[in-house]
Amino acid sequence: MTKKTLTRLPAIACPHCEAKSIVRDSIEITPMVRELRLSCTNEDCGHTFVAQFSVIRTIRPSAMPKEGIRLPFGAWFRKSANDDHPEPANDDHGLAAAIASTMII
Ligand SMILES: [Zn+2]
Repeated sequence: MTKKTLTRLPAIACPHCEAKSIVRDSIEITPMVRELRLSCTNEDCGHTFVAQFSVIRTIRPSAMPKEGIRLPFGAWFRKSANDDHPEPANDDHGLAAAIASTMII
């Protein structure tokens, strides 16, 4: 007999008042994506909203891989894309100033 596990969805705070929200219903969009209907628990707010729950990468491969399911491998936690400090798109390292200094006005 298979051990029954309780399904516990991650808590998503209401985006308006930041109170706890409760999953009221969910539907499968694809085998890797579900949409959840959530209600804010703050009675003064009353927000009801939809969130998406999706499989995005593999940490440990399945021993029973299903044909057609392809996921990238990755770590559990990935640094946010905006955590690095990319070079500004308009930074030419002084090239424009160097060109301007050679121009005869
Ligand atoms: Zn709310």
